[in-house]
Amino acid sequence: MEVRVQNVRKEFDRFPALHDVSLDIRSGELIALLGPSGSGKTTLLRLIAGLERPTAGRIFFGDTDASEKSVQERNIGFVFQHYALFRHMTILENVSFGLKVRPRSTRPPAGEIRRRAMELLDLVQLAGLEKRYPSQLSGGQRQRVALARALAIEPGVLLLDEPFGALDAQVRRELRKWLREIHDRTGHTTVFVTHDQEEALELADRLCVMSQGRIEQVGSPDSVYDDPSSPFVFGFIGESSELPVHLENGDVWVGDRPIGISQPGTVAGQQRLFFRPHDIELVEGGAALAGVVASSRRVGGTRRVELDIGGAAHRVEIDLPFDHPAGERTQIAFRPKRWRLFPAA
Ligand code: ATP
Repeated sequence: MEVRVQNVRKEFDRFPALHDVSLDIRSGELIALLGPSGSGKTTLLRLIAGLERPTAGRIFFGDTDASEKSVQERNIGFVFQHYALFRHMTILENVSFGLKVRPRSTRPPAGEIRRRAMELLDLVQLAGLEKRYPSQLSGGQRQRVALARALAIEPGVLLLDEPFGALDAQVRRELRKWLREIHDRTGHTTVFVTHDQEEALELADRLCVMSQGRIEQVGSPDSVYDDPSSPFVFGFIGESSELPVHLENGDVWVGDRPIGISQPGTVAGQQRLFFRPHDIELVEGGAALAGVVASSRRVGGTRRVELDIGGAAHRVEIDLPFDHPAGERTQIAFRPKRWRLFPAA
């Protein structure tokens, strides 16, 4: 099911949690709403679900205007961070619940409900545990039950709000891979809320990056990572380092020197140069940027080096393959096309 969010605004007691938000969610895709705390991700999800009503704007499910429809009418499957399983029901009863409470006219026969629930437990790799109660499962297993329960009603749209947020890092990573596999097999249109950029990059077909109640950028993980549209997105998706520069005839200068990169057509004046710490190379001589190592520490397989540029006027973080003692002078160059200029405010 395709979902179109059109010019949606949401206020809570006059406080605008969402400004003018528009987003087309494609049928069958897994899209991640990604952003820091308070950026409006959960509010957008709850509006799509029908748990909140927009202050302005409309939400379409396919060609139908769903803005005034109830949660039930929208046929939504939900999974929240804190597994809201029914504690007094077995796993099988939990997964069957959504079908059992349907009005008689649309409720499948009991045998069919059981068959479908067992099939889903098989899909989420919990076959054999159907007679247990939620308290007898691990956190990761409970979230898998929650997903099976959400899928049981054959939802038009599946909404997941930080579903792995309460789990430890290793279980989280496993469930991430697993969710992607389930999605590839079942093909439900899925909206996934997370503030974890690594999770979003690995899982999603597309990312919707949010900040302060606005959508900053929508695109594939590669396009958002490689071509961030704003300093915010650059810094939020992956690591970034920033250097104030100025442009003259398209050449990028730091202080009184050009640094060997250019962007013809950019207006002269102050700009902010953004790059990723690993998109830097050490060079010998040339018109490259010179700096003095302030400190160096190990980060994974490389060294994160703080480099003072222009006599400590600016400090940037770069990644280099070898250790460099404080005080050492180095010259660096930017990998082609791996940096971005944004106008200084
Ligand atoms: P988090 O990652 O912390 O869950 P989020 O990106 O999901 O954050 P929202 O929960 O959508 O953010 O909240 C967006 C803004 O709206 C926040 O400033 C929040 O305080 C406010 N807000 C959300 N729900 C309500 C409410 N029911 N009443 C008043 N303000 C609200």
